[in-house]
Amino acid sequence: MSDLAIMGGQPIRHNRKPWPTWPQSTADAEQAIIKALQSGRWTLSGLASGDTCFEQRFAREFAKYNNVPYCIPTSSGTTALISALSSLNVGFEDEVIIPGLTWVACPMAVAALGAIPVLVDINQWTLCLDPLEVENAITSKTRAIMAVHLYANMADMDALLEIANRHCIPLIEDSAQAHGAIWRGRRAGSIGHIGTFSMQQGKVLTSGEGGACITSDPELADRIERLRANGRRLIQNPKIGRPELCEVGGIFGQNFCLSEIQASLLIERLSHLESELDFRAKRIEQLDAMLDGYDGVRIQAISPGVERRTVYHLPVYIDPLQVGQVSSSVVASALSAELGFWIHPPYEPLSTNRLYSPLSALNVPLNIRKKMQSKRITLPKADEVFQTYVVLHHPMFLADDKDIRDIADAFAKVIANGSQLAKVKDL
Ligand SMILES: *Cc1c(COP(=O)(O)O)cnc(C)c1O
Repeated sequence: MSDLAIMGGQPIRHNRKPWPTWPQSTADAEQAIIKALQSGRWTLSGLASGDTCFEQRFAREFAKYNNVPYCIPTSSGTTALISALSSLNVGFEDEVIIPGLTWVACPMAVAALGAIPVLVDINQWTLCLDPLEVENAITSKTRAIMAVHLYANMADMDALLEIANRHCIPLIEDSAQAHGAIWRGRRAGSIGHIGTFSMQQGKVLTSGEGGACITSDPELADRIERLRANGRRLIQNPKIGRPELCEVGGIFGQNFCLSEIQASLLIERLSHLESELDFRAKRIEQLDAMLDGYDGVRIQAISPGVERRTVYHLPVYIDPLQVGQVSSSVVASALSAELGFWIHPPYEPLSTNRLYSPLSALNVPLNIRKKMQSKRITLPKADEVFQTYVVLHHPMFLADDKDIRDIADAFAKVIANGSQLAKVKDL
């Protein structure tokens, strides 16, 4: 086979059309934004116009989509997590169990409340929380368990829910990467006590920035509603030209509201979510079948209860022996050069992640920082995943089947030239 593109050879994607971009601007999306702009009300805290605001319309549609009674939109996935934790009364020096392999927003949301993120290792096949590790990490200070449905899979919700219920500890499902995934007939986010979502640009449902909490518990829903709107709550039948938010208090809230422009865009995008998820799932099946023929290459396993996988990123394992035992970042660079698309390693485990380095956090009291540091244990499985997987972003799976063939060919080429990669390391 010819030389690797990273060594100056011809890339697999020589003379091919570009990959689909994400997010995609469409005429309908533009119309949705214009409608919100022209409505004269750009935020929930604006004045009532007589029409249901876009934020509430999105909340109803997203609740219906997830088959739960309540959805409270938020400004981001991070603020959804903070609101969810806070509604469960997680506070100063409480402990929250989180997976060691996830985006740093998860521990940051815990730390924002003065609580201590307790890192536990993942299952090396599913890349999600290992229930046994969760059970071992529970103490009298544990106030919540945060499961994360990572990349293209869901955490083991049967086992986690059983543990949470047995210990009477609430379970949060961070579903920022799993809009629309299904576990034994139930949507991601609707199984635990509260589900949280991110609608940041890279996610499969997006308004640039945005988020949401969903729950079936009316009390939690009411708290989250006030937490994200400075202690205010929506009133029924507001007077036109007067605020729709009533100053009820009872809780110290912040302003984590989604704007009307974002909400209007999300309503439009939500109407395409199912067909886009199905399309990507088909492409991933194709890639899975193609990679089946290669030794030492496989995509992230799915947990047994997953009836429908979604994909935010698709993690692909490559046996280090196939690529001269170079790091995942070298493998990812070689694949990026072949495919003309940014492919990268998974998250750096929180045990070594420079964004989550408690002792250096200038804005956190020293005694809290020390407690966080003591819970920042080594995470051998998360480390191994970091070193042996690369992740592919979901817009690649909105491409044609020919493009999926290119992805498989790029893996084949990189493996066939594995010995060349050792030189890349020395460059
Ligand atoms: C994106 C993401 C978040 C944070 O969402 P933002 O909207 O960026 O604040 C939290 N958790 C996970 C797992 C994510 O992927």
